[in-house]
Order: sequence, then structure tokens, then C-alpha cells
Amino acid sequence: MTADAMTPTPEATTQSFEADVSRLLHLMVHSVYSDREIFVRELVSNAADACEKLRYEAIAKPELVAGGAPFAITVALDKDAKTLTISDNGIGMTREDLTAGLGTIARSGTKAFLDKLAAEDAKSEAQALIGQFGIGFYSAFMVADDVVVDTRRAGSEEAWRWSSDGKGSFTIAPLPLDEAPARGTRVVLHLNAESEEFLDSWRTERIIREHSGAVAVPIDFVEKPGAEPKRLADGAAIWAKPKAEVTPEQYTEFYRGLAGQFDEPALTLHWRAEGRHEYTVLAFIPGSRPFDLFDPSRKGRNKLYVRRVLITEDADILPGWLRFVRLVVDSADLPLNVSRELIQKSDVFAAIRKGVTNRIVQELGKLAENEPEKFAKVWEHFGAVIKEGLYEDPERRDGLFKIARFATTTHPDGGRTLADYVASLRENQTAIYYLTGDEGKRLAASPQLEGFRARGVEVLLLSDPVDSFWVSTAAGFDGKPFKSVSQGAADIKSIALVEGAKAPAEASAEVATLLAFIKQTLENEVEEVRASDRLTDSVACLIAPEFGPDRQLEKMLAAHGKLPERAKPILEVNPTHPLTVSLAARLHDGQEKPLIEDAAHLMLDEARVLEGGLVEDPPAFAARLRRVLEKALG
Ligand code: ADP
Ligand code: MG
Repeated sequence: MTADAMTPTPEATTQSFEADVSRLLHLMVHSVYSDREIFVRELVSNAADACEKLRYEAIAKPELVAGGAPFAITVALDKDAKTLTISDNGIGMTREDLTAGLGTIARSGTKAFLDKLAAEDAKSEAQALIGQFGIGFYSAFMVADDVVVDTRRAGSEEAWRWSSDGKGSFTIAPLPLDEAPARGTRVVLHLNAESEEFLDSWRTERIIREHSGAVAVPIDFVEKPGAEPKRLADGAAIWAKPKAEVTPEQYTEFYRGLAGQFDEPALTLHWRAEGRHEYTVLAFIPGSRPFDLFDPSRKGRNKLYVRRVLITEDADILPGWLRFVRLVVDSADLPLNVSRELIQKSDVFAAIRKGVTNRIVQELGKLAENEPEKFAKVWEHFGAVIKEGLYEDPERRDGLFKIARFATTTHPDGGRTLADYVASLRENQTAIYYLTGDEGKRLAASPQLEGFRARGVEVLLLSDPVDSFWVSTAAGFDGKPFKSVSQGAADIKSIALVEGAKAPAEASAEVATLLAFIKQTLENEVEEVRASDRLTDSVACLIAPEFGPDRQLEKMLAAHGKLPERAKPILEVNPTHPLTVSLAARLHDGQEKPLIEDAAHLMLDEARVLEGGLVEDPPAFAARLRRVLEKALG
């Protein structure tokens, strides 16, 4: 830092960084981050953002750019001073902008992200996480032990110097106009001893070309003080170029800047819509889950341009269930001279939204068909989000059903489509059966599935929270209703057993008496006790009544306080299970009623536990279990 910056002036103030900034800085400096050169991309992208902001503002106030140089970013090296400087003639910052922009973290989800990072013990996992997270301005402190930001807001008569060593606080002081940029911002990095490699002009030039070639503002490089600037990037909008002129690396770099993620995109879509409305779209499906995918705001990050002028970075172009897609839309048909809000309320914008959403769904369908393995990855990362559309967007449901993939009893690893399912219906099977729950592994072991397995009937295993919602509102697929195997009557007797499978026979009179006795015993806890046609190996399971939510949906609604009263479940008992038969015989002989009562309660608790629930009265449960064990051993 220069001596000047340290001289306190009456108006200079020193402030602490927000707590989260300090945490982030600590993490970066103690380098969980191995890839330090990304600071170039972060600072260049901020400079480009600043130019784009001014370009937009100048539509209404052309005087802001009058007489100034065209938009450009300059990266300059000074070996003697050991500085790397990034300057732009963009919008600049006021004093308030400086405090807010370079003192806090505005990006939503950052706190949750940091918490997660701190919780990851294994360093390599932390690294993988932070590796997909754009860390912004603060990345400067990975390579610099002092950072000085001189800035002048376009149109302002004041300029400011922000400076910090990244150790907890920063200082803002007024800057004489003759020392400040005419407009925009100059970020001076005093490189630390480990980062002098960035003074090597060849290396830094390569980094700029590699990481920032696709930004929408030209970049000049000055290799030493007084040298002729060399243009490294033309600032042409990548989306405006014909596909054939863009390399995969350029797409990837652009994606990284746009998404703030450092992975490879799983799918790149670049098209020009023609016809009633003309617009260009460059869209990416990330190769991994963005850290804020399940942030409650469900916001995407999409840029809307009108004739190359950036209107907004968080345009509401896609529905919430496509929030993982990162895209740029550039339209020539939208009005430039009205507010951002009005632009997004226009009919043209509505038509663009619809067109872009349709196209993305269509492209996902194509990918599923032509490149199933690639699609499987996309579905693995984002299927749970796309399925929100099944619930929220009934109009697109049919299109989404075509691409949705499921794990089933016959395909536990997933990848089944509903079309596959329907193509392998068993004779007399009239419904698409499903089981919902929160854990895929446990689901597959549920007793409710036994009778379906015995009949070769495939069952969808739905373990995402959103599943319970769409499946209970969708009418069906291909004329077949969805039916929960944990609800109502199974109605599968008319489907033939597969060879070698056994199914319970009708309940004998003795068993019927036992069931009535169990019903009486569990009166307060179950609605009904009946012989099951869906159990083959287990002795009992719980079923929801025919109407109302199934077991899982009921559990979720209750957990969110959305269910005033839980319906009593039905206890289904396997009438030919040895345990049932033996209890029935004992009851018939009039012996040991207390033992049979204990057994009835234990059966119910076992069924609860198998569903992932809890024993409702642990002391009573323990006492019963002990009595039964003593009896068995005694
Ligand atoms: P992000 O770019 O994701 O908002 P950063 O940490 O990179 O996060 O930057 C924080 C904020 O600081 C920016 O949003 C912007 O308001 C401000 N800022 C950073 N660099 C510049 C610059 N060169 N010109 C104007 N504003 C800037
Ligand atoms: Mg940034």
C-alpha cells in the first residue's frame, strides 16, 4: 500500500468486514483453494459487469459516457512495484457501494455454503465444494497482501480509495480527482511473495486469454509501465457469434463466468429463435449441483440483454423447476427505453419465457433419447428439481413425464421411464404402482412390496420429497392412474403369481378371530385390522385408508403442521404367516391372552419401524418385548 493511502484524512474511516467475509477470507488465504489464478477471472468479470451496468444506465443518461473513451478493461503489470492492476471505465462505486460491495457478501446462500464448507472435515471435499463456487472480489487476497481500489462513480464529482490487507478490516478515504480514474475503477494488487509468478507477462497474458476471452468488453494488456497496450479480447458477445466460430473451451469459459461455477457444463445450448420474435439464447446445464440449488428463494441466475445491453442479471426467464439452468437471452424486440420491471412485464418477454422453457424441455428430451448416459448424469443432479415441474406446471407434465427417470423394484438403480413401465405391465394390472418414502434403500425393503414382487408387478420407488406431491395430483400416465402401495386395497389378486412365488391364502376362521382380537386390542391406534394380500414374508404392515394422503405424504404434511389430525392407519396382517397361525391357534385354545395382546402391540410397532417411523411408547414397548422374550426363553 502506498504511504498516501495510510495517511489518515479527516474523512477516512476503517471498518470491519462482515463476519462471513472474514470467514471466506480466512478460508481462501489458508488456501483450500489450489487454483489461485482464478482471481484474474473474478476481477475481470467485475470490471466487465461495471461496464455493462454503465452501458445500461447511459441509455437514460447518455451524458454519463459523453466524451469518454469506449468501454474497455486494462490489465497492467509493474515488475518493480510488484503490482498487477485491473482497470475499467465502467460505472465505478460511491462510498456506500464500496462498503456494501467490498465489505459484505450479498450472494444468497453464501452463509449456508460456508457452514457446509466448515462442516466438511475432509479437506479434499471442501476443495471440491469451493471449487464450484465463484468467490468474487475477495479472491484478490489469495495473491495480494494489500489491495487498493480507486474508484469514481460515473457522473460523480467524488472519488474514493478503498484499501485493505484482508485481515479483518478495510479503510475508505476520499481520493483527489486528479489521482482517480476519470470514471470507473482501478484495482491495484500488491502481490504477495508467493504470487510473483503473475508478474510474468507471458503467464498472465495466457491466463487472461484462457479465462476471460469471452467477456463482453474488450481487454487490453500492458506488460510493463509505458508499454503499448495489446488487445487480448475483442469484447464481442459470444452468443452473437455463429456456433461454428465458438470453440468448446470458449463456451466453457463463458459458462464459468456466467454460473460462477468451475466445472464443465453438462449441456450447452446455443440457438437463435426466429419468427414472430427474434432472440438469441446461450444456455448451459451445469455439470454439478450449484451450491444454492435448494435455497428457499429458488432463484436462477439468468442474464437478459436487449441488443447487447445487459438489462438484468437475474431475469425471471425460467420457471423455478429449471433454476439450475444458466443462460443469456439477447433480444432485439424488447424496448430499451423503459424500466427493467416493465421490460419483464411485456408480452414479448412472456413469449420469450415460454419459447425458451419449451425449447429447454425439448432439448432435455432429445438428450435423453440420443445420449442416455449424459442425460442420466443430468437427471442424477437435477431430476429432483425438474420433478417440481410435474407438480407446478400441469401443462408441461406430459412433456416432463417423457424425460423423467425412476428407480423401481425391478430397476433399483434408476433410469426407468414411465413408458418403459407401462410397456411391461402385467396382465390385469390397471395402475402404475408407487411407494414413497425418504430413503431409497429402505423403500426397496418395505413389506408392502412383497405381494407385488410375488406377482412380478414393478413398483416405482419415489424418495424425493417432491414425489409425494406430484404423484398425488397427477391423474395418471397413458391412461393408467398412479396408485400408492401403502394405501387402500392392493387389488392385485387377479394378477398371476410369478413361477415359484407364494401368496397368502384366505384367512381361516381362526385367523379371522385373531384379527378381530387384534383390532380390539389396538382400537385406539388403528382404524382396521385386515388380512393382507400384499404380504408374503413379513407378518404385518401399515396402510393408509383409501382416501386422503398416503403414509408418506401424511407424514410430510404432519411434519409441516399442515395436517390437523392424522388418520388412523390400517394394520394389514399376513394371514398365513407362521406367527399369525400360531397366535390364532393359541387364541382359539383360550390361552395366554396377555401374550397375544403383547404380540399385537409389537406387530404394530414393528410395522411402524419398518416404515421409518418410531415406536410410539418406548417404555411400554420395552416391557412387552421383555415379557415376550422371557416367555420364549423360559
Ligand atoms: P459479484 O460480482 O458476484 O457481485 P464480487 O465479490 O465479485 O461479487 O463483487 C462484489 C460487488 O462489488 C459487485 O457486485 C459490485 O457491486 C462491486 N464491484 C466489484 N468490482 C467492481 C468494479 N470493478 N466496478 C464496480 N463495482 C465493482
Ligand atoms: Mg464478481
